[in-house]
Amino acid sequence: MRAYDIILKKRNGNRLTKEEIAFFVSSYTKGDIPDYQASALLMAIYFQAMDDEETSFLTEAMMNSGEVYDLSSIPGKKIDKHSTGGVGDKVSIILAPLVASAGVTVPMMSGRGLGHTGGTLDKLESIPGFRTNLTKEEFISNLKKINVAMIGQSEFIAPADKRLYALRDVTGTIESIPLIASSIMSKKLAEGIDGLVLDVKTGSGAFMKKEKDAVRVAKAMAAIGRKMGKKVAALITDMEQPLGNAIGNSLEIKECIEVLKGRGPQDLIDITLELGAYMLKLSGKANNVAKGRGILKRHLSDGSAFQRFKDMIRLQDGDVNVIDNPSLLPSARYTKDLLSERNGYISKMDTEAIGIASCMLGAGRERIEDKIDPAVGIVINKKLGDKIKKGESLALLHYNSEDKLAEAYKKLQDAYLISSKRPKKRQLIRRIIMA
Ligand code: URA
Repeated sequence: MRAYDIILKKRNGNRLTKEEIAFFVSSYTKGDIPDYQASALLMAIYFQAMDDEETSFLTEAMMNSGEVYDLSSIPGKKIDKHSTGGVGDKVSIILAPLVASAGVTVPMMSGRGLGHTGGTLDKLESIPGFRTNLTKEEFISNLKKINVAMIGQSEFIAPADKRLYALRDVTGTIESIPLIASSIMSKKLAEGIDGLVLDVKTGSGAFMKKEKDAVRVAKAMAAIGRKMGKKVAALITDMEQPLGNAIGNSLEIKECIEVLKGRGPQDLIDITLELGAYMLKLSGKANNVAKGRGILKRHLSDGSAFQRFKDMIRLQDGDVNVIDNPSLLPSARYTKDLLSERNGYISKMDTEAIGIASCMLGAGRERIEDKIDPAVGIVINKKLGDKIKKGESLALLHYNSEDKLAEAYKKLQDAYLISSKRPKKRQLIRRIIMA
């Protein structure tokens, strides 16, 4: 088999076989195929696409390029959730202990923030001492003890995807449905899960701004799940405004603690319950979504989800005192309100710009090696459809540096559109796609 023939075959619009895809991926991972040939194949896939079967072969090949966790020693179904990323998206931190408290094992591997979105690992690491780098043995042992562990993706998971993603980033081949779907699914399926709930975000703060693109990616990922014998549900959810009110690492942890104590913003509660209800349905713990929602509501209100969160923090070496007393979490030295310059209704929020404003304060990173400031960020006071008076606070910026504040303040100010007409209410859960 020759890489050249495989490139030509795809360039000419033909289907690749399982063997050809496996050969290309494993040879590239070993370094036997150079970057320029892999780039050519990626560009051919970008233009000619792949059908569902080819996409699942690509997923399998990338998954098998590294370690695939075997969680069969843990009884019961193992179900994870993946979000395509958004601003203020802290759902995983509430959802994982909540679903675990209902008896489902949640082996969660998450990422760091890059670009305008935050990362679950960075948020968790704002809890002093919390370790996201558990060994595989510690990960499995914690799952056996409390049904939940939240860690970073090890370098041994889907290394082919790591190399190919870096190549896509510099060759204009990121925005390809089969490449995005296989990239996400190869990493998730390597966790050894039985089922996966996908939160595919759409809107101004999402990776896929247009709903039709989000639906196409969701369908492609659901098809991969089906072909690989995994249960998958994909929820298309709104990211035309930040989720909840807090943006920034320790601010988001504080908001998660609020929700786990039975309080907190309604949109964040609703989306967490919906995603969790699907996780319970896929696991068989609930025979329908409404029952799943009911079970989870009980676990939120009786304190068992909060207790499971504390157990997880303790088992991963975090300081549980800060969970009981969130004022001990890192906090910024200064705050400043963004004041409205007019009366009206909030009719648009450029959510990507809001995410960037938070990064400008130091909450996110532009390059992978950048250090983040866990304390800074933004708390949103007014959201879409809310009435605002001139001089009222739209948001509160938490900051540690005047220079950073100036740039972030301007960015945030430009992100709000206030008009005299109240906009139509947006639906948070827009579509459900089941495999
Ligand atoms: N996230 C991934 O992991 N891969 C992609 O291709 C896009 C988003």
